[in-house]
Amino acid sequence: MAGGSLTLPRIGALRVRPSWQERFAETSDVLKSDKHQQTVVRVLDLEIGGRDFITMAGPCSVETEHQLLSTAHHVRQHGAQILRGGAFKPRSSPYAFQGHGLAGLKMLAQARAETGLAVVTEVMSEDDVPLVAEYADILQIGSRSMENYTLLEAAAQSGRPILLKRGMMATVGDLLKSAQIVLDNGNPNVILCERGVRTFDATLRNTFDVAAIVLLKHISHLPVIADPSHACGYRELVPGLARVGVVAGADGLIVEVHPTPEKAWSDGEQSLDFAEFDKMMASLNPYIALREEAIAAQTLETVG
Ligand code: PEP
Ligand code: MN
Repeated sequence: MAGGSLTLPRIGALRVRPSWQERFAETSDVLKSDKHQQTVVRVLDLEIGGRDFITMAGPCSVETEHQLLSTAHHVRQHGAQILRGGAFKPRSSPYAFQGHGLAGLKMLAQARAETGLAVVTEVMSEDDVPLVAEYADILQIGSRSMENYTLLEAAAQSGRPILLKRGMMATVGDLLKSAQIVLDNGNPNVILCERGVRTFDATLRNTFDVAAIVLLKHISHLPVIADPSHACGYRELVPGLARVGVVAGADGLIVEVHPTPEKAWSDGEQSLDFAEFDKMMASLNPYIALREEAIAAQTLETVG
């Protein structure tokens, strides 16, 4: 080799990584700040985002009085604090069961009265907000509605806490924008929900974005709930994903449970039966205990 001088490759100026505050500057109110480290959403005597780990459980759809009441009693006795169940159902097929509407809300009210469980249920249309808000302790904004801004505004203005599910094709930034809209409409009580997103891998119903849970807990003061049911679509995988959700730092879970999943009118494939729910809840205990220790020792991160 001829003895030429060695030329160093040119290295561009080192780029400084923007802070999370800069990355999400448009939605600064949902980010942790000196004055806002953690939002605690109070529902009945529950503190969502506080020390309690919250389990929301129940069927995908409210079907019959027997189905809902038996599920409500069962999940309450085995550790759930909040009953889920859809009265207004956003179905991918126009021919699938669309929910009982008002009759479903009335069944939820009966279950609430009998068990003392709080109720979370979806509202799909801004016209239905006053009605659903009359029956629900928490209004669920579903994945398909996350970017329906007029619905978000109406739901926010009802004053009810909002469970905001991440759109199946929404980025974390998109989710934070929708949360910011709720805050801008005078409602600070937003609970974020990771329920899986669509990716190239269609093996499971969705891809559980566990990094989003870690990120959201790192940068946002809003409570974060994990939905292992919609995240995978298969009941045998739900307990494993639920444990992962707890370890990732989620403040709670929303899980589908049905007395006879094989007969469910929607999402039976991913619904746990009662025995599976009990087993999952028991298996979560050591992880929930670790979470409590971490909170007590304040080792969970508190700065954005
Ligand atoms: C549901 O909770 O049953 C539901 C329809 O969820 P998602 O909006 O996440 O699909
Ligand atoms: Mn469902």
